[in-house]
Amino acid sequence: MKTTKKIQLPESEMPKAWYNIIADMKNQPLPMLNPGTKQPLKPEEMEGLFAKGLVEQEFSKERYIEIPDEVWQLYKIYRPSPLVRASGLEKALDTPAKIYFKNESVSPVGSHKLNSAIPQAYYNKIQGIKHITTETGAGQWGSAMSIACKHFGLDLQVYMVKVSYDQKPYRKFVMQTYGAEVIPSPSTRTAAGRSYLEKHPNSPGSLGVAISEAVEAAVTHPDTRYTLGSVLNHVILHQTIIGLEAEKQMEMAGDYPDVVIGCFGGGSNFSGITFPFLRHNLVDGKTTRFIAAEPASCPKLTRGKFEYDFGDTIGMTPLIPMFTLGHDFEPAAIHAGGLRYHGAGSIVSQLLKDGLIEAQAVKQLDTFDAGVLFARSEGIIPAPESTHAIAVAIREALKAKEEGKEKTILFNLSGHGLIDMAAYDNYFAGKLTNFEVPDASIEDNIAKLEKLA
Ligand SMILES: *Cc1c(COP(=O)(O)O)cnc(C)c1O
Repeated sequence: MKTTKKIQLPESEMPKAWYNIIADMKNQPLPMLNPGTKQPLKPEEMEGLFAKGLVEQEFSKERYIEIPDEVWQLYKIYRPSPLVRASGLEKALDTPAKIYFKNESVSPVGSHKLNSAIPQAYYNKIQGIKHITTETGAGQWGSAMSIACKHFGLDLQVYMVKVSYDQKPYRKFVMQTYGAEVIPSPSTRTAAGRSYLEKHPNSPGSLGVAISEAVEAAVTHPDTRYTLGSVLNHVILHQTIIGLEAEKQMEMAGDYPDVVIGCFGGGSNFSGITFPFLRHNLVDGKTTRFIAAEPASCPKLTRGKFEYDFGDTIGMTPLIPMFTLGHDFEPAAIHAGGLRYHGAGSIVSQLLKDGLIEAQAVKQLDTFDAGVLFARSEGIIPAPESTHAIAVAIREALKAKEEGKEKTILFNLSGHGLIDMAAYDNYFAGKLTNFEVPDASIEDNIAKLEKLA
């Protein structure tokens, strides 16, 4: 029999529209609120911050939204991405399960982030916006925006979490190579940064503070808009290209997943790979399971609470209905920088509340065990974020072995780890630890939220 290792979708078969799951949700996500009035946010209120085309998508209830031709043509630089049968990993685990992964590490920045960066830059460009601000943790989103802005002739300011700026300089160099200005956050450029620095002069920074700074820089300058790399509905919409392709590729392989897994930061790659399959649960009676893999040290889905909360630390964003650890939760300095975020998007939060998806937490050492096994059996060194999905895929494959059952597992390889080798070095040197979050610290943080909405 012919073995299928890599399943490559022909370019002409690349989806022409993104999928908006809101059109198929029985319980709609709750609206975002204006934090001042506590009233549902209106599209006009977001247009000072985000490009109009993106705001329209944020509020859209259309099931399919056409991918503009200019965006589609750029996607072709690295898409369709391959679907790969992880036969090496199956063998290493001696499991009866079939394991597939969607390889999003093939993009020029090495992660799925470019899938949303390209359309975000595009919608700003066609509106005549000249300057973009954004924030980045470890640098994946900033790198993706840097390429996209360069392509569309927009200039870009990236507020980069200071500890990454100092300790993980390579993605800073990537961003600079594409022509972006990179500013360590907290900075003295913004009132938000200055006030935070006054209280925490030696702060290593966090994604939440960097968001506050980038938002402030956008709303206080002309012809400038802000972009966000996860959490919001329009970002999740763009990422569905992953699952829409995977759906066609699974069909080419003659298979359909029993379980689909993605690692979880704000929810964009998880939603991207799962929503097109989840649609078949919602409308065709399929019973696929969907598992979000989060760090045990930042457990918003498994231990957080469903509440209205801010998307940033200072409290400048709208109130978002989400599973959260509280906007001033300070996650431990794990190497999966892209997963160190206190909250989750409103669609994913509603789906979790309704039991339509599941979540599992993974400890840092287990993620690196999984990452190294994957590298040695499949040849790709995964990003520390992606190792969370791999660890859960391995759990599911070993469970199948225990039960002596066949099972088809699909996970998203959100990125490669070639710029994260210092993390692997620490792991091999025995310097990595697991971090525990005491219940009391979560409860304290969440107790503060009850007054917000
Ligand atoms: C940013 C990032 C993530 C986490 O973000 P999501 O929006 O939850 O997908 C995961 N993996 C990689 C490689 C990333 O760059």
